[in-house]
Amino acid sequence: MARRGGGALGLWLLLLLCRLQDPGSGAPAQPGPLAVGQFWHVSDLHLDPTYHITQDHTKVCSSSKGANASNPGPFGDFFCDSPYQLILSAFEYMKNSKQQASFMIWTGDSPPHVPVEELSTKMVINVIGNMTSTIQSFFPDLQVFPALGNHDYWPQDQLPVSASKVYSAVADFWKPWLTDEAISTFKKGGFYTQLFQPSVSPQPLRIISLNTNLYYSPNHVTLNITDPANQFAWLESVLEVSLRKKEKVYVIGHVPVGYLPFTRNITAIRGYYNERLVKIFRKYSDVIAGQFFGHTHRDSIMILLDEKGNPINSLFVAPAVTPVKSVVQRESNNPGVRLYQYDTLHYSLLDLWQFYLNLTDANMKNESNWKLEYILTKTYGVEDLKPENLYEMAKQFTVPHDKLFQQYYNNFIVSYDRSIVCEGNCKLSQICAIQYLDHSSYTDCIERG
Ligand SMILES: [Zn+2]
Ligand SMILES: [Zn+2]
Repeated sequence: MARRGGGALGLWLLLLLCRLQDPGSGAPAQPGPLAVGQFWHVSDLHLDPTYHITQDHTKVCSSSKGANASNPGPFGDFFCDSPYQLILSAFEYMKNSKQQASFMIWTGDSPPHVPVEELSTKMVINVIGNMTSTIQSFFPDLQVFPALGNHDYWPQDQLPVSASKVYSAVADFWKPWLTDEAISTFKKGGFYTQLFQPSVSPQPLRIISLNTNLYYSPNHVTLNITDPANQFAWLESVLEVSLRKKEKVYVIGHVPVGYLPFTRNITAIRGYYNERLVKIFRKYSDVIAGQFFGHTHRDSIMILLDEKGNPINSLFVAPAVTPVKSVVQRESNNPGVRLYQYDTLHYSLLDLWQFYLNLTDANMKNESNWKLEYILTKTYGVEDLKPENLYEMAKQFTVPHDKLFQQYYNNFIVSYDRSIVCEGNCKLSQICAIQYLDHSSYTDCIERG
């Protein structure tokens, strides 16, 4: 399975390289090998070290919180966070795919969803350290840009606005990947920026790794703080310099900006912070070539529009590796990892390949048959991932009973259950969350119905 996917991707890349040739002159617009770069995105590993197969299904994993595991097998269960074997299978698949990736982004959440008393600062640090060395053992030479998640702290969600034991310990783990300057801001507030020069690209890329957990609603530490850890001021100053230097920036973070697509009227971060972030992202949309988040565990897309309604930024939320859901949830997600293609001149996003593990199937066969789930441009019939193209795609979704939207929803839950349809209120929430990130435009969208 891995070989089939890799071969198809190789062929596709070749086709893309051909496509990028300038049809007018017949000469390549850029030297062939320079045209396309790739990077991996993994998120929400949520290792549950207690996971084990046992007759008593209430005792398979702490993360099921006493509920019966549904169908526990070697690669996990939909009521449990990831067994180590699942995480290994994901990285093994990525490594064996032989994809030429310039770097990897890793958007946080390593510890399991368990009651607060079952973890501690020490345990959280250990899990992050374990996940870091797991990634390093599979990809010893790959540049990784990590971001902290709301679970990467104890007690969970309470990430502080100044130096802490966790920031400092995690900074030590991530030293092989980050510059001294990045480590220094990270230790103070859990965020950093770093310039990266991919070997396939003529110019460098700026990564900004935000600590959006400071804005996350359950974080009591930052209640009533206008600019937690001065991250907004820092972000604006970094983007201002990037604008002057004509750099391109990828913003990465854990908790996404915008509205949660599976519910109504709820932003992932506090409303006030959301408005401020949207404003900053609008102001610097020429500099920002892509935004990448995790946290919701689902696969979703957002398009940032300017005040006049023009699409100016593409944002992506990657699905989780953990398949966990709570007993009250109807849907979960199969484990997923993804690969993006970018144009090496401007860092604009060309495509996205989503890979997944059919968990039920993998458990049944005792084999981790990770495979390609979909290719974004092919699935939605768009040329690339530029904001204007994704916006056209989103407009198509609004057509009643649109098949493409049903496909989007199936991808949203990482092919968890094809029989689940999202119509009516479910669809309206999704559609508005895709296109409207600020309060006023989102509210208008919901009211229009
Ligand atoms: Zn998570
Ligand atoms: Zn999270």
